[in-house]
Amino acid sequence: MAQQKMLKFVNVERDMPQKRVPDLRKKDYDEIYQEFAAVKAEEQASRCSQCGVPFCQTHCPLHNNIPDWLRLTAEGRLEEAYEISQATNTFPEICGRICPQDRLCEGNCVIEQSGHGTVTIGSVEKYITDTAWEKGWVKAAKPFAERDESVGIIGAGPAGLAAADMLRRQGVQVTVYDRYDRAGGLLTYGIPGFKLEKDVVMRRNKLLSDGGVEFVLNTNIGVDISFADLRAKHDAILIGTGVYKSRDLGGPGAGNNGIVKAIDYLTASNRLNFGDTVPEIESGELSATGKKVVVIGGGDTAMDCVRTAIRQGAISVKCLYRRDQKNMPGSQRETQNAIEEGVEFVWLSAPKGFTGEGDVSGVVVSKMRLGAPDASGRQSPEEIPGADYTEDADLVIKALGFSPEELPTLWDTPELEVTRWGTVKADFQTHATSMDGVFAAGDIVRGASLVVWAIRDGREAADSILDYLNNASAVAAE
Ligand code: FAD
Ligand code: SF4
Ligand code: SF4
Repeated sequence: MAQQKMLKFVNVERDMPQKRVPDLRKKDYDEIYQEFAAVKAEEQASRCSQCGVPFCQTHCPLHNNIPDWLRLTAEGRLEEAYEISQATNTFPEICGRICPQDRLCEGNCVIEQSGHGTVTIGSVEKYITDTAWEKGWVKAAKPFAERDESVGIIGAGPAGLAAADMLRRQGVQVTVYDRYDRAGGLLTYGIPGFKLEKDVVMRRNKLLSDGGVEFVLNTNIGVDISFADLRAKHDAILIGTGVYKSRDLGGPGAGNNGIVKAIDYLTASNRLNFGDTVPEIESGELSATGKKVVVIGGGDTAMDCVRTAIRQGAISVKCLYRRDQKNMPGSQRETQNAIEEGVEFVWLSAPKGFTGEGDVSGVVVSKMRLGAPDASGRQSPEEIPGADYTEDADLVIKALGFSPEELPTLWDTPELEVTRWGTVKADFQTHATSMDGVFAAGDIVRGASLVVWAIRDGREAADSILDYLNNASAVAAE
């Protein structure tokens, strides 16, 4: 009888790829998790019980066929595993690295629910596609036939790039416009290398180029090219511009030097790691080296800032968050990584103002307690009167979330409908906006979200754009 390859969770413990020790990883921006060895990946994949109704798949925004690629990995049939994995995910090795799996696929694995520790789905997904790259199985688009229609995509983040890939594979002429000098959106300039090494993103950009996607970089739509001109040039448009307006803080001293936005801080650090000259780092304005750093916020952006500050050689790094650890929005895994690297978390603390004359010297902190749950069920923080104190700081990084830029004003398109939060109104399934032939995907529709949702939106929008182009050419042929 053939040996049973699966259901090994009873005897095989859950195991993640090894993390590099904090003292070593603090010295560079390389990813902290090491690769699974082939034997380990097969062993971990074999823990899956091949559920008839796989909750992991239901809770993956891309509905990845997880049980099938786990079984194929356990059987050593990696090329087939890769084929299945890439059929539903444009960037599986990126999701394997940075999806908050504890809230998505892995958090809903039945083995986890039964107390055996989840199947390490993300690490296996990363392993499959990293191997595919090594073996040369990852191929650029080679459309069966070229089409005449062209699509202009504004924004080279995961939403725009996922759509570009789908459309190009169908032979559509695709041009992606971005105001940055490198494609990738937040994958390139937001998320630090210790979570996602940049060559992983750059090789994807090159693959898209090799497949015929045209990139027009350093081009801000609404400034360098008007939206109207872009629309006249292409048969359809996809808006995938993300959300970049940082939420701000007021209070006394809020205008002091040394109080900076998280996105500026992280972009500068990522640029430096590409080898660019970054005057704001050279001047010290966006550098944590030799400073007492306070980061305000409890989300993933705050976690990326504190860990970057550690790597830049800050004297101390503290993270202020107004709720407690249980109620923070950021990933618990990343918080643990930050604690291991020397970050101090100051829970139940909210900034009230800043000290210093010209240059910041501290943050005035109100101590909080958690009150009754609000409508969403989360406990609201309340100030404890008389418990204020000052936290010393010579660099304060505000990581309080992002909202959308005002696209109808910036692009002179009052007919582009937006929600009351400023996100673009798009049909939930087709991603069509209020303007004919204009679609939208990713954070600019959802508000600040996740890479995996941006990929899903981009893929769905590409399907709708193809329908739109097909209908238009059918009408023209009548
Ligand atoms: P973006 O990635 O923001 O890309 C939008 C692109 O549009 C940018 O390149 C921008 O330059 C371009 N653009 C904007 N306006 C114009 C214009 N007018 N003209 C031309 N180009 C324009 N998600 C995860 O799943 N896991 C994580 O670990 C994670 N960590 C994060 C860490 C940080 C610091 C941040 C800020 C976000 C993180 N996210 C994470 C969220 C994730 O990065 C986003 O949800 C995702 O990148 C959204 O994709 P997008 O394509 O919609 O937009
Ligand atoms: Fe899990 Fe994300 Fe991969 Fe889906 S894409 S299987 S949620 S890691
Ligand atoms: Fe396998 Fe867990 Fe998914 Fe079930 S829920 S198919 S055990 S990974």
